[in-house]
Amino acid sequence: MKDCLFCKIVNGEMNTDIIYEDEAIMAFQDIEPQAPVHILIIPKKHISTLLDLEKEDEALIGHIYSVAVQLARDNGIAEDGFRIVSNCNEKGGQSVYHIHFHLLGGRNMQWPPG
Ligand code: AMP
Ligand code: ZN
Repeated sequence: MKDCLFCKIVNGEMNTDIIYEDEAIMAFQDIEPQAPVHILIIPKKHISTLLDLEKEDEALIGHIYSVAVQLARDNGIAEDGFRIVSNCNEKGGQSVYHIHFHLLGGRNMQWPPG
């Protein structure tokens, strides 16, 4: 989608530190990391918010979680523990309106989240 930051990353229009890519999804370093490991996993297909997910996207979201867990293993945070977060809309803290899943680890996470 035009003017979508993450669609620009998918289309190679941004200078991004890509960690993983296949036909359906991409993972890259967050530009403003909030933990020693902070990776964003996104679908290549533009979906604005979690509210826009459709039945046909179920396998895509499952795939994102599988890859996120593998990336947790690859980055050495699996055993100690990690967090996967997806923010939705303003009060959920969403700032980029192309769905994404934050993989965070390498430090103690707080609960409840801020
Ligand atoms: P959210 O606030 O949940 O929508 O998350 C958006 C995330 O995208 C934030 O953690 C930002 O630091 C990150 N971000 C914004 N621009 C870029 C970029 N060009 N490359 C990588 N990460 C980005
Ligand atoms: Zn997009």
